[in-house]
This record gives sequence, C-alpha cells and structure tokens, in this order.
Amino acid sequence: MSDSLRASVVFRKALNQYGADPQVFMVMEEMSELQKELCKNHRGADNVSSIAEEIADVEIMLEQMKILFAVGPLVEEVKAAKIRRLADRLAGRPESEQKEATHGTHRKPL
Ligand SMILES: [Mg+2]
Repeated sequence: MSDSLRASVVFRKALNQYGADPQVFMVMEEMSELQKELCKNHRGADNVSSIAEEIADVEIMLEQMKILFAVGPLVEEVKAAKIRRLADRLAGRPESEQKEATHGTHRKPL
C-alpha cells in the first residue's frame, strides 16, 4: 500500500470515527493554530518548527475535507487553473482564466 493510500485510509477512518461536524471544526481549530504561529513569527518568534507542525495539521485536515465533500479532483482542477493564472500574472501575461469577483476587496484573489 502506498503512503498516500495509507493516509487516505486513515483520513476516512478519522471521519467515520469522529464524525463530519467535529472534523469540520477541527479544520478551523488547526487553521487558527497555524495563524497564531504565523503571527508569532511575524512578531519575531523563532518558531519555524511550530509553523511546520501546524501546516502539517492543516494539510491533514484539508485532506479529510476533500474526502468529506468529495471534491479532491475538483480541488486539483481549480488549483491548477489558479496556479496558471498566478504564473501569467507574475510574468505580466494576460490572464488565462476569467477574473473572479473580488468581493469588494482591492487585492486580487489567489
Ligand atoms: Mg495543530
């Protein structure tokens, strides 16, 4: 069994054992922990290992959300399009995808 398949089995087991709602809230908790570590780093903390740990936690929870909402392939498709658009923008080329609404912000969406 490959590592990614083994991980997928573990993620499905976690969703079944803990339930969807608790895991959705765990995503928010882990994102908050990452946010806290990034803020600490911005204030000068030497916490790169903590940032790595929280990124791992968030990635683990996001993988579970892809399974829960059955959006893994869609996420990959959207992600690829967004990376192409970012590459175009960084290179000063016309963007290869329709612009999304910015919902009132002045910053371009990722
Ligand atoms: Mg954490």
